[in-house]
Amino acid sequence: MCNSCSLLDQNPWQAPADPRCAPQPDLEESMISFVWIPAHVGIQGNENVDKLAKAALKRTSTSGKLICYSDLKPKINTYIKSVWQRDWDAEGANKLHEVLPNLGEDLHRRGEGAGRKRETAMCRLRVGHTWLTQSYLLKNEQQPFCYACDSLYIVRHILIECPDFQDTRRKYFSVTDLYRLFREVNPFRIVGYLKDLGVYGKI
Ligand SMILES: [Zn+2]
Repeated sequence: MCNSCSLLDQNPWQAPADPRCAPQPDLEESMISFVWIPAHVGIQGNENVDKLAKAALKRTSTSGKLICYSDLKPKINTYIKSVWQRDWDAEGANKLHEVLPNLGEDLHRRGEGAGRKRETAMCRLRVGHTWLTQSYLLKNEQQPFCYACDSLYIVRHILIECPDFQDTRRKYFSVTDLYRLFREVNPFRIVGYLKDLGVYGKI
């Protein structure tokens, strides 16, 4: 028996997942009929509650009634994230934007299980700050250029761009942007590539 006519009309019968609710063997061949019963209809208190609930759905404000501040937290969080994402979307030239265009994505977890040293290296590669490419700042030196092709020696150049490293790179992965590299390529292959180049120890 069910007090919802629409439920009976719309949902075909399915066997319940809970085995305790499964039909007994001796009833498997039995005919089962579903019957609608009026339930709360006509009970004044229930009718009043139904009217109030339907009226509340049509309101556009809470009419000044107090609500718990914690009820607003999800709305505030969603709004702040949308503003943050909008500002971040305008930062297309930022080198980190290619790596993490969608804020909130838990990218660092993809390197988990690769070991502490590899995870550290992967984190440095994602943010684009490695000893290999940024130590010139600490040493107060000129920014280095790639010894192979004379381009600026930055992480993106080493991982994706350098034409002189291409043959070595192809042995480990074939993606052409950092977004796919950090999502589709196993960290062990990226580390293998850097070891092959002889620069992994300087990451
Ligand atoms: Zn190069």
